Amino acid sequence: MTADRENLPGETAGRARQLLVELCALSSPTGDANGVRAMAGRLAEELGRRGLACETELERGADGALYPVLLTRGPAADGRCLLLVGHMDTVLPASPPRLDGDRLIATGALDMKGGLAMLLGALDLMAARGQALPAGFTLLAVPDEEASGVISERVVRRWSERARAVLVLEPGEARGDAETLVAGRRGLTEWQLQVTGRASHSGLAYWEGRSAVAAAADWCLRAQRLSVPGSGRTVNVGRLVAGTADFVDRLAENHDLLGTSRQRNVIADRAVADGEVRYLAGSEGTAVIAELSALARQVAAEHEVEATLTAEASVPPVDPHGPGEALVRRAVELAAARGFRLEVETDRGGISFPNYLADTTKVAVVDGLGPVGSGMHTRDEWLDLRSLDRRIVLLADLLATL
Ligand SMILES: [Zn+2]
Repeated sequence: MTADRENLPGETAGRARQLLVELCALSSPTGDANGVRAMAGRLAEELGRRGLACETELERGADGALYPVLLTRGPAADGRCLLLVGHMDTVLPASPPRLDGDRLIATGALDMKGGLAMLLGALDLMAARGQALPAGFTLLAVPDEEASGVISERVVRRWSERARAVLVLEPGEARGDAETLVAGRRGLTEWQLQVTGRASHSGLAYWEGRSAVAAAADWCLRAQRLSVPGSGRTVNVGRLVAGTADFVDRLAENHDLLGTSRQRNVIADRAVADGEVRYLAGSEGTAVIAELSALARQVAAEHEVEATLTAEASVPPVDPHGPGEALVRRAVELAAARGFRLEVETDRGGISFPNYLADTTKVAVVDGLGPVGSGMHTRDEWLDLRSLDRRIVLLADLLATL
């Protein structure tokens, strides 16, 4: 990869690195309201120096406490906003940052104070070039992405309703001599299978019983086999509880049956399985739930039991070939023009910011804009400072086109 210093003034790069060290030294683990508030304050100060006024709204988190959500808006726009999203919390409390060559070893350096420092660097670079911020520029920095994410989800959903595009400042990944951007994220649908068979004595009336255990196990095996390797859908059975109705329906009271001889002589009549399916296109989610329901009917007929599948909570996917595709392509081209090779992740696991958009089929989103490193969520977390330089240039270039 080419010398990034050709594209980025040394002074801007140095300032961003210094800021990143400061942000990492500031401890802001999720749930530490004071720490996260200090982060919001420090960010607001830096954004203020760059001519951006901030508002801090207090939102109630999963634990009932109030946490800050930082909001900055650039030049007003008549149309929809350009939403940039990041989080201020980290998994671990901070330990002192350390520099090792081009690596900054620090808590949250990668996930994702690096992305916040990148943004501040990009603002400096645009100012140095005399470029204006895009119309409707809006930064949303949330306090709880690393834990429950209830605030993150709520505010990202709310703001994305007014967005024309969403840029997520979470880190990309290093891939040999290239780095990645994230275009696709799987969605998920949770489901529950309920099976009722017929209880009977396994010694006296074995053939009269209809085993819910056997039917549910059969269903689970066949359900998991509907998974398709690569970018296809996956079916996961997270839990299967089966036994007599007495045992399954009052598990809390009767769990101590496990490992004893009691009720082993019963053809068991009750089973409940909980799980989820994950998929990249919304239509795939609907299709796989329909297949699982059909499988429940088939297994019910074969085992002579009752079996019903219920689809439960759902999180929409971000289709890598959806509305964000053109924006991702533009970022890849802008990087290439600077001698920086970006690859596209079409299938990143885990639920994150892009899944929280009000309508993932309508708003363009590009994720993984932040600098790369390794060791996320560990004491060995580090950030590649050359990647920080490259990504500052990329973000400034991208913002200049929006
Ligand atoms: Zn993160």
